[in-house]
Amino acid sequence: MAYDPLFEKLTCVIFDSYMECVMKINKLMVAGPTEIEDIVRQAGSNLMVYNRTPEFSQFLIEIEENLKAFFKTKNDVFILSSSGTGAMEAAVVNLLSPGDEVVIVSGGTFGYRWYEIANSYNVKCLIIDMPQGDTVAPELIRDRITSNTKAVFVTANETSIGVLTDLEAIGNYVKDTNAILVVDAVSSLGADKLETDEWFCDVVITASQKALAIPPGLSFITVSEKAWKLIYKSKLPKYYFDLKRYKEDILRGQTPFTPAISLLYQLDIRLKKILETGLDVILKQQSEKAAHLCKGLKALGLDVIGRTPSSGVIGILFPPQIDAFSIVETLRHEFSIEITPSPGADKHRIARIGLFGNITFIDIDILLESLKKILIRHISVRP
Ligand code: PLP
Repeated sequence: MAYDPLFEKLTCVIFDSYMECVMKINKLMVAGPTEIEDIVRQAGSNLMVYNRTPEFSQFLIEIEENLKAFFKTKNDVFILSSSGTGAMEAAVVNLLSPGDEVVIVSGGTFGYRWYEIANSYNVKCLIIDMPQGDTVAPELIRDRITSNTKAVFVTANETSIGVLTDLEAIGNYVKDTNAILVVDAVSSLGADKLETDEWFCDVVITASQKALAIPPGLSFITVSEKAWKLIYKSKLPKYYFDLKRYKEDILRGQTPFTPAISLLYQLDIRLKKILETGLDVILKQQSEKAAHLCKGLKALGLDVIGRTPSSGVIGILFPPQIDAFSIVETLRHEFSIEITPSPGADKHRIARIGLFGNITFIDIDILLESLKKILIRHISVRP
């Protein structure tokens, strides 16, 4: 049957109705995945092609150029078929050898994940544990780093609380040491300003389901010249994530293994749209939305976590008499809005609001109004 865009649109509408019957579809204001705009969603069901062709290589080379602009780097950006944790593991196994010393900044779940991965490969980890909501100062890193430190691992936005790290200050310090700076920007790149090359971030990773606003399943990693020197010496075991293979293949617009082709169709559209609008314009809009949300939360008497909240994820600390998890549940069941509960022990104190994808000022106002209604109930039932 010939390709028919009208038929495609109709199929999408029927499928949407089917999904609404089998699953309750709520407004996604979570820390990823995001809602996907129609044109991007439809691109995911484009006809399949064979990837080992000159045409596909050309397609990938164009994506690669756009990824570099998105990452603000002149270095290659490698595409991995995995979620963000895969790119974190790729960074560790490619850069390090058993017994290597590293410094890890942990301000919550995701900073700690660097430790969990590195420790499982017998890397010697020195952790800087940050009090909740605090951002690491470069001096703290200076106190822990030695001439043997191979890498400093940080999280651009600690998604479990929505707090930003001052990458510019840290990068400017680490560049003059033997160590490299490795940045998990999964929940930050595309939402907060991040100048990979200008701020001397040697390795930066991100994933598809946050500010890029395509479905989960792709992750990305860029590597500086300084970091490649470590990669060529690295002795940790690796196969699927061996970046040397990716480097060879990227030159000819290929990946060593079968890529997630449908996700690449979607990535291509999103990158073009982001770059056409202008990354700086998008970052400005994002920070205005975040400021609007923070102002509204404060007006409701709620505390936004940290002095440097991210523009992608905002963490709210609820007063002790209010159960944060019950707020998340009420928003879901009564108001059809999904926000993210905090992991582990913080579940009853903290919740997070994601502003990725096409979240508008109106969406934010509706959320604030819904929160207000729930909070009024809490106040009126207080003894
Ligand atoms: N790092 C950060 C900062 C994240 O926010 C996440 C996911 O939310 C991850 C890593 C892990 O990514 P994934 O769940 O895609 O493996």
